Amino acid sequence: MEFQYEESGLVWMDPEVSTAIEMELDRERENVNLIASENYSSMAVLEAQGSVMTNKYAEGYPGRRYYSGCGPVDMVENLALGRARELFGCEHVNVQPHAGSQANMAVYMTALELGETMMAMDLRCGGHLTHGATFNFSGMLYRTVHYGLDRETERLDYDRIADIAAREKPRLIVAGASAYPRSIDFAAFREIADSVGAALMVDMAHFGGLVVGGVHPDPVPYSDFVTGTTHKTMRGPRGGFILCREAYGPRVDAAVFPGMQGGPLMHAIAAKAVCFKEAMSPEFKEYQERIVANCRALCDKMASEGFRIVTGGTDTHLFLVDLRPTGITGREAQDVLESVGINVNKNEVPYDETPPTVTGGIRIGTPAITTRGMQPVDMEDIGRMIVTALKNMDDESALNSIRSEVKELIGSFPLYGGETESSRIDPRD
Ligand SMILES: *Cc1c(COP(=O)(O)O)cnc(C)c1O
Repeated sequence: MEFQYEESGLVWMDPEVSTAIEMELDRERENVNLIASENYSSMAVLEAQGSVMTNKYAEGYPGRRYYSGCGPVDMVENLALGRARELFGCEHVNVQPHAGSQANMAVYMTALELGETMMAMDLRCGGHLTHGATFNFSGMLYRTVHYGLDRETERLDYDRIADIAAREKPRLIVAGASAYPRSIDFAAFREIADSVGAALMVDMAHFGGLVVGGVHPDPVPYSDFVTGTTHKTMRGPRGGFILCREAYGPRVDAAVFPGMQGGPLMHAIAAKAVCFKEAMSPEFKEYQERIVANCRALCDKMASEGFRIVTGGTDTHLFLVDLRPTGITGREAQDVLESVGINVNKNEVPYDETPPTVTGGIRIGTPAITTRGMQPVDMEDIGRMIVTALKNMDDESALNSIRSEVKELIGSFPLYGGETESSRIDPRD
C-alpha cells in the first residue's frame, strides 16, 4: 500500500512539510539502517498513529476520565493494557508515557523522594541520559551513583555492583542500557537490590522486543518496575510504557497523570495497541530470532576482518566496534558510512578517552534491516561494504562503487511498498 498524500490534503495544505515527509520516505527506503534504536513500524501502526484519535482529550484512565466522549479512546487504551499484560506477563501496565524518558521519570517519582539515591549504569559505559546524567532531570533531581563495566571483560561485574550498592545504599537500582551488547543477569540484580533493600527497575527500552521473542532474559519476574519503548525492537510507534507489580500500580499511574503529563496521546496509544497485537504473533518471535542471528553474523564478519568488537561479540540486537586501534574516529566512520548510504551511530566504547562528540567507536544494530527482510547471508555483503568503506575513506572511486552496491542491495528489500515492480519481489520468499 502506498502513502496517499494527495488524498490526505497535506500536499495542498502544506507542500513544504509534505516534501520533507516524501524526502524522509525516500531516505528510509534508500539507506541501510544500522542504527540500533530505530525501526520501521507497519502501515497499520502508521495508520493508527495518524488517526483522528489525536483530536481527543482523555486526561485520566479508562472509565475515570476528566472529559466526556471517551468511549472509543477507552476501548483502545483497554486493548493496549490487556495486550501488554498478556504479552509481558506482568501485573500492572501504564501505556501513557509519551516516550521512554517519561516512563523512567514516572518510576523515579514513584520510587524516590527528591534528592534520594539511585544507582544506574554510567552514560559513558552505555547507560542512558535518564540514568542520572548531570545535565538530565534524573541527575538534577536525584543523587545518582553509577556503576561501569569491568575494564578487562567490558561486561557488567556483579560483585563490584554489589560493593557499590552496599557502600552507597541506593533506594532504587536501575539495570538496562542503550549500548550494552550482552544480555543482563536480572536475578543477580535482584539479589543486589534485596541485599540493600532497594527497589529494582529494569529499563528495557532497547531489548523489549527481544524479551517478547524469547531471545533475551525476561526482567519481569525479577523487577519491581520495568520501563520500555514501543519504537525500538518492539517496532511500533514512538512511545513509552511501564510494567510494575500491582502494589505500585496506583502510584505509578498517579505519577504519569497528573504527576508529570496532561492529556495522553490517544493516537499513539491506539498505535501502541496495534504494536502489541503484532508482537503477539508467531512471526514476531521469528523476527526477533532473526534480528539476533543477523547481529551475530554481521558481528562475526566485522571481527573476521580484524575489527575489535567490544566484549568480543554480542548476545543481542547490537554490537560495538572499537575503532581506536584503526586510528579512525567514530565520527569519521559515521560520516563516511552515511556518504555511501549506510547509517550507523558513533558511540563511546567502555573507558573511551575520545571526546563524546567524536568517540572511538560505532554502534551497529540489526532491528531495522531485519524488518526489511534481510537474512544472515546478507550480512556478509553488508559487512564487506562497511569494511571496504572504512578501509578506503579517501578513495572516491572505491566509495562510489560501494555506493552503487548499497543501492542495488537495498533495492531488493522494498520498504512501504517500494517503488519498482522488481523490487517488490524478494527472491528469498
Ligand atoms: C531509548 C532509551 C530510552 C528512552 O528514550 P526516549 O527517546 O525518551 O524514548 C530510555 N532508556 C534507554 C536505556 C534507552 O536506550
